[in-house]
Amino acid sequence: MKACVDKDACIGCGLCESICPEVFQLNDEGISEVIVDEIPQDLIESAKEAEAQCPTGAITIE
Ligand code: SF4
Repeated sequence: MKACVDKDACIGCGLCESICPEVFQLNDEGISEVIVDEIPQDLIESAKEAEAQCPTGAITIE
């Protein structure tokens, strides 16, 4: 599975990075970026939690 962040929707709250820092990191512009290609199996649950918690719905996991 892969994660995707809609840069236009992200408000840089940092929640995804706190929930799953192995997949999401805020970049120099304060916008979340996905730092892995494929989400490692053991991180999928946590990445999906970040998707569910993102206040603007900017994260897609598929
Ligand atoms: S939780 Fe959503 S809005 Fe907040 S930094 Fe992550 S992608 Fe951006």
